Amino acid sequence: MTDLPPEPAAGPRFADLGLPEALLRAITEVGYETPSPIQAATIPLLLAGRDVVGQAQTGTGKTAAFALPILARLDPARLVPSPVSRGAAPVAAGPAALVLTPTRELAIQVAEAFQKYAHHLPGFHVLPIYGGSSYGPQFAGLRRGAQVVVGTPGRVIDHLERGSLDLGSLDCLVLDEGDEMLRMGFIDDVEQVLTRSRAGRQVALFSATMPAEIRRIARTHLKDPAEVTIRTRTSTAPTIRQRYWLVGGLHKLDALTRILEAEAFDAMLIFVRTRLETEELATKLEARGFAAAALNGDMAQAQRERTVTRLKEGDLDIIVATDVAARGLDVERISHVLNYDIPYDTEAYVHRIGRTGRAGRQGEAILFVTWREQRLLRAIEGATRQPIEPMTLPSVAAVNDRRLLRFKEKITAALSGTDLSVLRAVIAEYEQEHGIPALDIAAALASIAQGDRPLLLAEPKAPPAAERPPRAGRRDVGPEHGADGPPGRGERRRDDGGDERPWTPRPAPPPAEGMARYWIGVGRAHGVKPGNIVGAIANEAGISNRDIGRVEIRDEFSFVELPADLPADRLQHLQGVWVSGRQLRIAPDRGPPAGAAEAGPAERPGPPRQAPGRSRPGRFTPGTGRPPPRKGPGGGGRRPGPPGKPRGRPGPSD
Ligand code: AMP
Repeated sequence: MTDLPPEPAAGPRFADLGLPEALLRAITEVGYETPSPIQAATIPLLLAGRDVVGQAQTGTGKTAAFALPILARLDPARLVPSPVSRGAAPVAAGPAALVLTPTRELAIQVAEAFQKYAHHLPGFHVLPIYGGSSYGPQFAGLRRGAQVVVGTPGRVIDHLERGSLDLGSLDCLVLDEGDEMLRMGFIDDVEQVLTRSRAGRQVALFSATMPAEIRRIARTHLKDPAEVTIRTRTSTAPTIRQRYWLVGGLHKLDALTRILEAEAFDAMLIFVRTRLETEELATKLEARGFAAAALNGDMAQAQRERTVTRLKEGDLDIIVATDVAARGLDVERISHVLNYDIPYDTEAYVHRIGRTGRAGRQGEAILFVTWREQRLLRAIEGATRQPIEPMTLPSVAAVNDRRLLRFKEKITAALSGTDLSVLRAVIAEYEQEHGIPALDIAAALASIAQGDRPLLLAEPKAPPAAERPPRAGRRDVGPEHGADGPPGRGERRRDDGGDERPWTPRPAPPPAEGMARYWIGVGRAHGVKPGNIVGAIANEAGISNRDIGRVEIRDEFSFVELPADLPADRLQHLQGVWVSGRQLRIAPDRGPPAGAAEAGPAERPGPPRQAPGRSRPGRFTPGTGRPPPRKGPGGGGRRPGPPGKPRGRPGPSD
């Protein structure tokens, strides 16, 4: 039996879907090998101008399913940016496409995806507009003329009423996560946008489920829509134990390392989404001491076969692969399949885990699932009719037990298999010369052998995921971020930043692993809401909302958790960002001054010790000459916004 099919690609390829060269090039650069099922089904329909109702959830690749055809159908004349008009009043501008998303987090993600796919379309602009961030940059962006606008419903309506957004020349409207918008109370806004856009526009409606209200919208506002549902025909072998880990508390890589260290496995196949990721993850695992290699469709057939042979022969223990590259892989040694990234659909999942439990053996399948992807997990469970059990990551103690065991095994092996007479004599001589006990000398030698890598894993500062929900405390940054964490009971997940209750744990829990606490010079007294801070930081530092942790608002200042390895230039940039009329003056939190009690506002009213010298709040920033902005709705951002018309209605996105 061959280990691999002669050619990796079977089924449709991106090149077969009718996409233009500039987009195919970008797709290759991003590292996608083949279209996901929803992409293969939807892209040709949207390219042909059809309205589409797609039943798809996060993780299926639906963003590219609508973004690529929108980009492909953009009129090249529209790619010439219009000159920025001057003057205070917002000037109406007309995007070619509008995507409505339920949360600002998703709006940012979708906008980022457009930007990525449009890499070779000069003059292309996408603009995310959502509540909780200042109007200024949004007005400016709209005046500049973005071909694609991605927004939350409330803020979009708000711009429509202010006259800063005009849907008169809209060619395509996408409703992303329709059922979620319904659940969050945005359906009236969505319907208003549908009514206000011009009659002939194309509409694509994506929804994970199809409640009656969503069906009604499709019936009323879409013309003869093509329905795309990705059928899931599947069954999994009973010899495979299936578990999932809900990502949180630890980075995926650290979680994977723990599993690799503590779980007894023979060979492991790890699935990621792109060929770039196969290389990256394999390199990182190698750096951590594992015998790992990448397997992807970019590699020549001979090279792929060599890698598989190395796995068979035990020269490698881990292969990091894409779906395409692992198609047909048949290696008995594979005891574990780990889905580092969730597959797009049940069929891919079943195919992946079918690489273990071969020849009647017992196999293990582990799936990493983020909060946003839980629906896909349920869909997989439903379609395979097999429960996937939640798993707890191996504890630090379990990892250390294994490390000690292996360490001792190495000593035993060295004692039995090697001629130690010369070294023994050297140690005896050292012992005599220095009067140091042999035990201490052995410890010193072990430390040399260990090098930089500590023998034992330290307890993380934050409890691991199994002991707390991921991103605990995220709710204090406003329910709009509930997409990353579970909304509380009875809590509505809206992007209106409406939950202002500060979250003031005493004492503050330590930041999650990989995160650090930062002090910022704007607090409750200045009218700031957590959403403003998150919006400004996400916008201005290009940090994904997912990477912004707990926000803690105090009277005169606040704290925010950000990645500990935040580059210095981004930190410096953020120091000058205005939120609620103040500059952030962000700096790593260095704790209360010596002798002060923990974290009371009175004890930490000013910038933290060692904070770089920045301008005082409310003054002009040296070097920029920028005045503090008018305190607008939400009030976060880099530039003061132009005065807007009075709001016609209280938009839910604000
Ligand atoms: P989405 O369902 O649109 O949120 O996409 C989920 C993830 O899949 C994103 O990280 C995408 O970059 C990735 N993705 C989308 N399409 C493909 C593809 N054809 N091949 C590999 N990864 C993809």
